[in-house]
Amino acid sequence: MTEPISQAAAGRSQRCPRWCTECRDCDTGPGSLRARMHRGRADTVHLYDEACLRVEAQVRVAFWDKSPDWIGTDPADLERPYVEVSVSSHSGLQLSLSPDQARHLAAALLHAAHAADTAIPNGTTR
Ligand SMILES: [Zn+2]
Repeated sequence: MTEPISQAAAGRSQRCPRWCTECRDCDTGPGSLRARMHRGRADTVHLYDEACLRVEAQVRVAFWDKSPDWIGTDPADLERPYVEVSVSSHSGLQLSLSPDQARHLAAALLHAAHAADTAIPNGTTR
C-alpha cells in the first residue's frame, strides 16, 4: 500500500487488535476515505543487500482497518491482517505477504538454508 500516512495516532484505540503496538491514521485526500494502520512489534533480521552491505529487515504483522468504501482496493488476502517485511536498504524494499505466502517463504528459506549448510565449500553438495 502506498497511500501517504498523514497523521500519527496518539496510541491504541478500542478497535486495535491485541497485537497492535503502533497505529497510524491515513487520509487519501480531501473528502477521502480513511483507514487506520495497525502494526505489531517488529522482529529484526540482519541481512546483506545487493552490495553486500549489512541491512536490517523488520518483520511484523500489519492490518489496514479501512472504511467500507475502501475495502477491495487491495488483493483480498491483504484485506485482513498480513505480514509486512521492510528492508532498511537504499532501495527501501517493502513486502506484504498473506499468512500463507509468509509460511511458503519461510519454508523456502529453511530449505535453501539447509542446502547452504550442507554444501561443500567448492560448490558441490555432499
Ligand atoms: Zn492499533
